[in-house]
Amino acid sequence: MGRSLRIGSVKGVPIRVHWSFPLLVVLVILPTGAKTTTRSLAEGLIWIAALFVCIVIHELSHSFVARRRGFSVRDIVLLPIGGVSEITGLPGAPADELAIAIAGPLANVALALLLALVGYAAGAVMWPPAILAGAVVSRLMWANLLLAGFNLLPAIPMDGGRVLRALLSRRRDDLRATVLAVQIGRFIGLAMVLAGVRYDLWLSFIGLFVFVGAGAERQAAAVRAAVGGLKVSDVMVQDPTTLEVSFPLSVVAPFLQASPGRVLPVVDRGRYVGLIAADRVTGPPGAFLVADATDRDAPALSPDDPLYPIAVECLIACRRRAAAVLEDGRVVGVLYGPHLEAALHRGTTSLGTSRIGR
Ligand SMILES: [Zn+2]
Repeated sequence: MGRSLRIGSVKGVPIRVHWSFPLLVVLVILPTGAKTTTRSLAEGLIWIAALFVCIVIHELSHSFVARRRGFSVRDIVLLPIGGVSEITGLPGAPADELAIAIAGPLANVALALLLALVGYAAGAVMWPPAILAGAVVSRLMWANLLLAGFNLLPAIPMDGGRVLRALLSRRRDDLRATVLAVQIGRFIGLAMVLAGVRYDLWLSFIGLFVFVGAGAERQAAAVRAAVGGLKVSDVMVQDPTTLEVSFPLSVVAPFLQASPGRVLPVVDRGRYVGLIAADRVTGPPGAFLVADATDRDAPALSPDDPLYPIAVECLIACRRRAAAVLEDGRVVGVLYGPHLEAALHRGTTSLGTSRIGR
């Protein structure tokens, strides 16, 4: 997700700050204009920091529940409008999606209860609800309740929308449940954009994020439906020609030209080493053998890997042309990018969607 800077990690989950994040600091400070003092600036920054600690706890709750259910968590990215957990392989089964989605808002409710206890013990005034004025413990408590409530709006891709989709998928297939959740999400997103123009542009920003994000969810669901159940072995080219590392480069060009994606696997006495592409066949200056022009970092898959999301992320997201398919270190096939795209395209057009996202 765009450019971001790693600021640390919690239990192996990297936390990153998106480049647009400093915008928030500027936007919070600008409205006070001429009256800005060092003290009000410091208070503003501490307030933002406290709020974002709560947001990080919210995202970590999603991440830890996801990890316990077998998903891998890439990182947490902090944006001016909140945090995003990058978890691969979602949504998974409805029960998984429900548990992962609800974990974030529940963390904010728990934080609010904790802050209420602290506030009560310290004798702070906790009522009436206020976020912009009053004791910090009270402001933070109400902010956490607001975060929980706001995230539970049934607008996918927000947490409440994922809860809704998970509940809808109990009685429908994934695509139908998503389409319905997306329609509700877009309606709420549009209402937020319009309400934001009237009350607070911040709301418009988030509404726009919801509206665009809902469309992306629909496309992802179309891809899942298109290739759901398909494995790498269903689309790969089986038993491809392999080239030995010791072959002279001068003799392999015709084999590469004849292969479907002009990429072939390279082996060393039967064991897989890497891939070689027709346009790299000259290799570095002085290259003489296949070994010299072999890409040893080329991606490799297993025949039982699902096409979505593993093969899609391996080839399309990383802009690779082919991946070797291995079983016990031996080449059993090659998955070519165009074949994978064709499989996705066949599926998505038959579902009435013209293109998939990249
Ligand atoms: Zn969340």
